[in-house]
Amino acid sequence: MGKPTGFKEFPRRVVGYREVNERLEDYAEVYAQAKAEHLETQGSRCMDCGVPFCQSGTGCPVDNLIPEWNDLVFKNRWRDALDCLHKTNNFPEFTGRACPAPCEGSCVLGINELPVTIKNIEHAIIDRGFQEGWIKADMPPTRNGKKVAIVGSGPAGLAAAEQLNKTGYAVTVFERADRIGGLLMYGIPNMKLDKNGVVNRRINLLREAGIRFEINAEVGNNIDPQQLLADSDALLLATGATVPRDLSIPGRQLNGIHFAMDFLTAHTKSLLDSNLADGQYISAEGKRVIVIGGGDTGTDCIATSVRHGCCEMINLELLEQPPQERAEKNPWPEWPLIMRTDYGHDEATARFGADPRQFAVLSKEYIDDGRGNVCGLRVVDIAWVLRDGRMEMTEIGGTERVLAADLVLLAMGFLGPEAIIAEALGVELDNRSNYRAEHGPFATSIPGVYAAGDCRRGQSLIVWAINEGRGAARAIDVFLSGSTTLPAPGIALGG
Ligand SMILES: Cc1cc2nc3c(=O)[nH]c(=O)nc-3n(C[C@H](O)[C@H](O)[C@H](O)COP(=O)(O)OP(=O)(O)OC[C@H]3O[C@@H](n4cnc5c(N)ncnc54)[C@H](O)[C@@H]3O)c2cc1C
Ligand code: SF4
Repeated sequence: MGKPTGFKEFPRRVVGYREVNERLEDYAEVYAQAKAEHLETQGSRCMDCGVPFCQSGTGCPVDNLIPEWNDLVFKNRWRDALDCLHKTNNFPEFTGRACPAPCEGSCVLGINELPVTIKNIEHAIIDRGFQEGWIKADMPPTRNGKKVAIVGSGPAGLAAAEQLNKTGYAVTVFERADRIGGLLMYGIPNMKLDKNGVVNRRINLLREAGIRFEINAEVGNNIDPQQLLADSDALLLATGATVPRDLSIPGRQLNGIHFAMDFLTAHTKSLLDSNLADGQYISAEGKRVIVIGGGDTGTDCIATSVRHGCCEMINLELLEQPPQERAEKNPWPEWPLIMRTDYGHDEATARFGADPRQFAVLSKEYIDDGRGNVCGLRVVDIAWVLRDGRMEMTEIGGTERVLAADLVLLAMGFLGPEAIIAEALGVELDNRSNYRAEHGPFATSIPGVYAAGDCRRGQSLIVWAINEGRGAARAIDVFLSGSTTLPAPGIALGG
């Protein structure tokens, strides 16, 4: 512990985002630059507690050695902090930017003070590492002659690929999209995670380390899953949870109603291909937009639509507005279920003068403009009541109304992986339609076939995908070599 009185002397000061009206003018990352001295001071607030709840349990899913690197940053030993960070996390530049930071919810200082700015410090360590040229491709000393195929190039597939490659396996990653990265590339917008500067920078290092990437390679379509399995010593499914939850109320067939991922993917592809000049995306310009569903996906739809130049923005959420402070039944060190205002909400507020969110609203019907296009959404307010031990919703009389809309974006979550690979290989699914495989062994019902990330655990977070990719790599190493030196992933709670 560098400075025993750090948390008493210095208040929490988050490195925020760029000024809202400035960032609304571009698609560059929203983050403001932090000064090294600022982060050293913030690092000194870490108390180096005997039991650092931030780094396991309800805290960080990859068991980042948080007190260690906080101390190293405070002591201005950035290179050592970087080495410490890379021990547990393959891609801190993704989590340091986009992780919701369950670690901060579990920080012991958070019991009666504001927590340490852990995520900001992680972000700064890795960015400093790249700036200084300290981060190099991690080549294996020797190859062991065994081949592993990985389907899906999101954070789970990439983390597994790096772990297996550096152990000596010949790893090929198959990705059906035209770019590598999964939701890091197509899903999370450039404003939150820069595609060329951040995502491709890491992919180039992985390629340099010897990992092979095949793009436009859809297993189950232009690649036969059985053949792929026969040609490999092990197969890892890291295909993500890509089936979107629909809202099949009357009028669903109307034009102007889209899944969030169709909207976000086309936008990013057009941005990267042509800086939006090709027009190959669903534009929100001049439209009254309703985003149904909160969470990261909803926020990203709001932020993208506002940048397109939508003329109205409403964001509907079925659940009640969360409390401002932790509820009694949600004590530390659990993840605080509180009202959070993300970058997209601030941006819509700046553009339209009010927070776009409306809570406890049920959508009942899409309204037809008479020409087959959506022009509104019939909604009603609801109340959540406890009945027979379960929360149930009831409509509130007299609140039914029509909200005007030219574009409706459905951001209501995902229902697991697509069925095609499971059917071709005979892989069993669980009762949530994910590939059935336990965390730890990560083995599916078919010998030699493993599963990790959102396709196994359901829609989750980047940091959990990294946890699972690392864990699956370890399990595959044990299966193919009889033992392993790869670290076991944390079994942190939640996620
Ligand atoms: C819009 C959005 C915003 C998000 N924002 C955040 C955030 O801010 N912070 C956070 O922590 N998490 C966020 N998440 C969640 C996070 O992105 C995911 O939990 C994480 O990417 C899951 O990683 P994965 O590797 O399991 O799968 P994915 O990232 O989904 O990657 C799976 C890949 O598999 C490919 N694939 C699927 N089927 C096949 C096939 N048959 N053949 C070949 N390839 C195939 C897909 O094309 C995809 O590229 C967000 C999710 C969304 C949708
Ligand atoms: S990966 Fe997420 S939970 Fe872990 S230290 Fe970083 S911000 Fe915190």
